[in-house]
Amino acid sequence: MTIFSVDTYVCNSEKTSVRNKTAQVDKKVIYLPGTDCVIRPEVSLAGYTSYRVGGPAEWYVAPRDITALEASIRYAHSHSLPITVLGAGSNLLVSDCGIPGLVIGTRHLRYSNFNPETGLVTVATGEAIPGLAWEAAELGFQGFEWAVGIPGTVGGAVVMNAGAHNGCIADIFVSAEVLCSDGTLRTFTSQDLGYAYRTSKLQGSNNIITQATFQLQSGADPAVVLATTRQHKEHRLSTQPYDKPSCGSVFRNPKPYSAGWLIEQTGLKGFQIGKAQVAPRHANFIINCGGASACDIFNLIRHIQHNVKEHWSIALEPEVKMIGNFQIA
Ligand SMILES: Cc1cc2nc3c(=O)[nH]c(=O)nc-3n(C[C@H](O)[C@H](O)[C@H](O)COP(=O)(O)OP(=O)(O)OC[C@H]3O[C@@H](n4cnc5c(N)ncnc54)[C@H](O)[C@@H]3O)c2cc1C
Repeated sequence: MTIFSVDTYVCNSEKTSVRNKTAQVDKKVIYLPGTDCVIRPEVSLAGYTSYRVGGPAEWYVAPRDITALEASIRYAHSHSLPITVLGAGSNLLVSDCGIPGLVIGTRHLRYSNFNPETGLVTVATGEAIPGLAWEAAELGFQGFEWAVGIPGTVGGAVVMNAGAHNGCIADIFVSAEVLCSDGTLRTFTSQDLGYAYRTSKLQGSNNIITQATFQLQSGADPAVVLATTRQHKEHRLSTQPYDKPSCGSVFRNPKPYSAGWLIEQTGLKGFQIGKAQVAPRHANFIINCGGASACDIFNLIRHIQHNVKEHWSIALEPEVKMIGNFQIA
């Protein structure tokens, strides 16, 4: 399937001039023909990231089906707009200056199909991971209990090879349907993704995951699966600062050390820049204490890296994806 054909896009300046002459911002809203999808200008991304910081997307769209997703991509290509994909924004630090081009939010791309005979589960990219973990448990599917505390989407988890409690996406991954930058829809297997610790070949690529299939084990007693899932959730709530905005672990663990231990031993627990703080409960978390800017968080990340390097000669590598422009203070 080729999707980047030329199409006609309706900028609704004429429509709004009829409907509401005073609504300045409405003038730029773009309706994608043949879809119920609109592209909006200057949409703040702070509400779409778990850090609750970040400037606006130059353009933002949240398609509800593949047709609308393809139309959004065609629009971006025909207007030479760079594309950024946004899942739940739970592993992103978006610059205060925002993001140029088109940001595509996947959160409305939702469906799931559990096959009790094979244990295969096929889910749309925008499905929330915690909801999926609970649903699997309630249906007696084992293999996803570890994921309950990860507040991302399926697409984000597949790209990041998200993991916890000794489990990770790579363990259960079968395949993903991917909309490639050349406009074709392809099926990628585990081998194609080159999975390793919290990484995959899809990171930094222009490919967009539309759905993924996981292999779970069906037929277990739901009460047992629910109990393990609940245990994992409770453990997270008691050891990590879920009450404040964050992106989870900021740095990858530089084996054999844990990043949190190194940061704590460097004396940085509780250290604060502006309203961004190294979480007192877990030193590999940076929390937004209320009113932090992306710049505060970025400067704290750099400060931690500098100090850990000084003390341990270890370069901490961020797990969080930073997008947009940042400048060191
Ligand atoms: C409180 C908290 C706890 C966390 N705990 C964990 C944990 O235990 N383990 C863990 O691994 N992570 C954890 N995280 C981090 C985060 O939840 C995961 O990395 C998650 O997988 C990110 O998913 P997302 O949908 O939010 O992706 P985003 O943050 O929106 O995006 C992450 C990257 O994936 C890309 N992307 C997203 N969707 C697609 C798609 N459909 N196609 C192509 N690219 C896409 C984005 O462009 C970006 O590069 C935690 C975060 C928080 C806030």
